[in-house]
Amino acid sequence: MSFDLARVRADFPLLTREVNGQPLAYLDSAASAQKPQVVIDAESQFYEHGYAAVHRGIHTLSAEATTEMENVRVQAARFLNAPSTEEIVFVKGTTEAINLVANSWGSSQLQPGDNIIITEMEHHANIVPWQMVAQRTGAEVRFIPLNADGELDLAKLPELIDSRSRLLAVTQVSNVLGTVNPVKALVAQAKAAGLVTLIDGAQAIMHGQVDVQDIGCDFYVFSGHKIYGPTGIGILYGRKALLDQMPPWEGGGSMIATVSLTEGTTYAAVPGRFEAGTPNTGAIIGLGAALKYVTDLGLDAIQQREQQLMHYAMDKLASVPDLVIYGPQERSGVIAFNLGKHHAYDVGSFLDQYGIAIRTGHHCAMPLMQHYGVPAMCRASFVLYNSEEEVDRLAAGLIRIHRLLGG
Ligand code: PMP
Repeated sequence: MSFDLARVRADFPLLTREVNGQPLAYLDSAASAQKPQVVIDAESQFYEHGYAAVHRGIHTLSAEATTEMENVRVQAARFLNAPSTEEIVFVKGTTEAINLVANSWGSSQLQPGDNIIITEMEHHANIVPWQMVAQRTGAEVRFIPLNADGELDLAKLPELIDSRSRLLAVTQVSNVLGTVNPVKALVAQAKAAGLVTLIDGAQAIMHGQVDVQDIGCDFYVFSGHKIYGPTGIGILYGRKALLDQMPPWEGGGSMIATVSLTEGTTYAAVPGRFEAGTPNTGAIIGLGAALKYVTDLGLDAIQQREQQLMHYAMDKLASVPDLVIYGPQERSGVIAFNLGKHHAYDVGSFLDQYGIAIRTGHHCAMPLMQHYGVPAMCRASFVLYNSEEEVDRLAAGLIRIHRLLGG
């Protein structure tokens, strides 16, 4: 399938904006992606014509809203190739999904002396919840270190796994280095040792086809806003056999079967058991439109186009003097760098003056900053609507800053 960049860009109204008198070059989609008109329309149509609370109503609007919401669950299951819709839990995002697993599975399963294995390149969302549950249960958090190329040092994994290892939680793609981790092989190794596995798909879901059955993981999590959907919605895929065993995390409406003041509460079956309270239905419907949007474009076509752009960007940025790029040559979606001795904030502020939006800071990956011995990095990210021209502007902007400030 061919990829028509001009048509894709026309789908995203915000991309026509100017910033500081310049056409916007939006290179911060790894933090949050812009939305195509179909997503904006789906959400506003729902509020204009179809809004009602789901589940509890007998009236037409409530029934329609419930159907629309449940259709997105079917869509999400298909999108991930999950065997069943009961394995799809609506959550606020990646962060909430990981906290749910840490609190429900972790709190009920971990014993003092157990260990959880993560990696040195995780986002704080896949570190802190494990540290918190480890502290509560007396478990230990271990990590797979990085090699010099910014990839996981996989030779270390067998040394980390022992008879007390319970879970492996790994990001599929690093939000800083763009490293694509061999999640299928990692999951196979972990499963062979009896570990439960969780894959953080926050930076992978928008860049190519994901198949949870092929990966073989127990949990797969992602945020809607990174795949052109609304904020405040995400997906937790969990293998049903595990979800069935897990206690509820939040209590309230919708997650119960029966409630009695004298006899206590019984809980709904999964996934309802993990969806307490009124859901963010508008965002769920927007997410459905986003999943349809990328499916219609074709995940393979998207991946091919993005890889072409990434190669172009890596080549182009190699010409910028005193630019240090972190991570492997082959990567997905993001390029983190520093320019000479200049703080990332200074570089980011200059680029903003040229209309170029990048991310600066620790990228919620402080352990990775410590690994490289820097307080912060700049990060440009590239998705389906970015262009070679934007890469050229980034490179030219960096060369200009270098000329102004020196190395
Ligand atoms: N994991 C990774 C790899 C991420 O990039 C992000 C978002 N930057 C998260 C987790 C957290 O996602 P959210 O803030 O949408 O919950």
